[in-house]
Amino acid sequence: MSEEEVSKGVAVVVSGPSGVGKGTICREVLKHLDNVYLSVSATTRRKGPNEADGGDYWYITRDEFAERIEKGMFLEYAEVFGSLYGTPKDKLEQALSAGKAAIMEIDVQGGRQVKAVYPDAVMIFILAPTQRELAERMKNRGRENEKSAQRRLGEAGSEIAAAWQYYEHMVINDDLAEAVNEVVQIITGARKRKEYLESLGNEAE
Ligand code: 5GP
Repeated sequence: MSEEEVSKGVAVVVSGPSGVGKGTICREVLKHLDNVYLSVSATTRRKGPNEADGGDYWYITRDEFAERIEKGMFLEYAEVFGSLYGTPKDKLEQALSAGKAAIMEIDVQGGRQVKAVYPDAVMIFILAPTQRELAERMKNRGRENEKSAQRRLGEAGSEIAAAWQYYEHMVINDDLAEAVNEVVQIITGARKRKEYLESLGNEAE
């Protein structure tokens, strides 16, 4: 991947097990903050019944995905549950240079890659109150069949273990409004710190 970048805006990585409510939290956070951009990933996985191309994801073939890797069009990419997922680089860079908070809802492998490019990226991991609660939520979501739901639940354990290493913020999604508020506060705090550090830099010049 590329060299370390200094961004004007704040890169925000939101990760967490499938079914924990990352998507809902991110969409809510958008309503509470100005100047934010939510990245739309490209994926080779099949489109779900309630999903829209360009809304939830850009759905592309493996060949197209490989071509985009080749052309360096992804900030990060990873294989998750047998499908490829990647963050389009150009849109994200545009958002950051416009001073926006750029939110990426991606897995921990991707989070690691983003942190390598943007060392001041804010790393947020969302947890379900309990493992049982997570299983319930996944069942209610109804998108997975039994086998894929089991697989996703199994992955959750290793993802959480990896997250302790790279994520400085752990948010428990017990009450949605509280979790959203927490994420909003984290992003707001990171923005203020960045502005403050920049003002120190300007004074020193
Ligand atoms: P789902 O298929 O449930 O929408 O997503 C499966 C997993 O892929 C989730 O953990 C999600 O965060 C992750 N994911 C979605 N987009 C990206 C991406 O662009 N890059 C990476 N590394 N993971 C992603």
